[in-house]
Amino acid sequence: MTMHDDAVAAVPVLTPPLLQVDNLVKHFPLPRGLFGRGDAVVHAVDGVSFTLGAGQTMALVGESGCGKSTVGRLLLRLLEATAGRVWFDGEDLTSLPPAAMRARRREMQMIFQDPYSSLNPRMTVGQTLTEPMALHGLAAGRRQERAAELLDLVGLAPQYLQRYPHEFSGGQRQRIGIARALAVEPRLIVCDEPVSALDVSIQAQVVNLLQDIQRRLGLSYVFIAHDLAVVKHIASHVAVMYLGQIVEYADKESLFSQPRHPYTHALLSAIPLPEPGRVLNRVLLQGDVPNPISPPSGCRFHTRCPHAQQRCADEAPVLTGEAGHSVACHFWRDIALPLALQPDAAARVPNRRLEQLQAAFLPKDAEHA
Ligand code: SF4
Repeated sequence: MTMHDDAVAAVPVLTPPLLQVDNLVKHFPLPRGLFGRGDAVVHAVDGVSFTLGAGQTMALVGESGCGKSTVGRLLLRLLEATAGRVWFDGEDLTSLPPAAMRARRREMQMIFQDPYSSLNPRMTVGQTLTEPMALHGLAAGRRQERAAELLDLVGLAPQYLQRYPHEFSGGQRQRIGIARALAVEPRLIVCDEPVSALDVSIQAQVVNLLQDIQRRLGLSYVFIAHDLAVVKHIASHVAVMYLGQIVEYADKESLFSQPRHPYTHALLSAIPLPEPGRVLNRVLLQGDVPNPISPPSGCRFHTRCPHAQQRCADEAPVLTGEAGHSVACHFWRDIALPLALQPDAAARVPNRRLEQLQAAFLPKDAEHA
């Protein structure tokens, strides 16, 4: 079977495609007896397809539980897919024997959300960095030197090689996690919420570091995040996920300037404005995310969508589009951009902090006048 036999038309191919994900499905079976049936499954991922070119960054965004982290683990086969295929550099990873997959995984690394729990507390930084090199037979005879180079690459001093993870701050530990991923010279890194556990001031430093490393080494990233403000800085392409499916896919500029799906509208309207005191009218969604054990029929978003019609409950929309911008919504052409996302929205929104100050001081000024 060739890579192109199962190619999916809905998502355009970026050139050259380093990674192609084709109709990926992951259902987690529930223990017999739960929910009264033996065949109940959690629909974690249901038909996800996308491609990623060398040197590009694909962001997978969505609320907690939408399946984005499961996709990340499926790419590296840390979880086995229920169905679908993952092609890396033209090779079908899903059919590789375990030994061949282990060798391939050197080129596909992962950075985790919690840098502390992903580092072995009993290993020094030097041991943490040289162990994967030894495992893959890399840098023989100069592993300590290579470890020092990696620390330098992530902005840490070489003398830190002798220290243990507990001696570092959260941001420094994430830098060590990045250095460990780089130790085996990968081509693709899956970054699973790499900055969500960090202080806001440190988040920007780590995102800038990832961008800098990408430029220098030509890496590709799959960047999993729920924070669209972070995604806006680092992604070249964005896939918005809801309840195990991609509902919108586009290059970053299109997605942020002309979002089409009502769920994307809601996510974008939740990005805080940089100026304290300014608050946009958020698009508030009703209800909770439905149970992934029995997702709604038709459009999975219809139970919360402010624009839902009868057709939405009856018929599942297909992810389609043109010019690299795809959306899964029957009525996206009829749905106006919410007020909060219109180009001059920020200028029109009153500055609440300023209003409060004026309310406090203006009457006194008026008395002196
Ligand atoms: Fe909303 Fe219907 Fe579009 Fe789904 S198909 S996003 S329910 S308008």
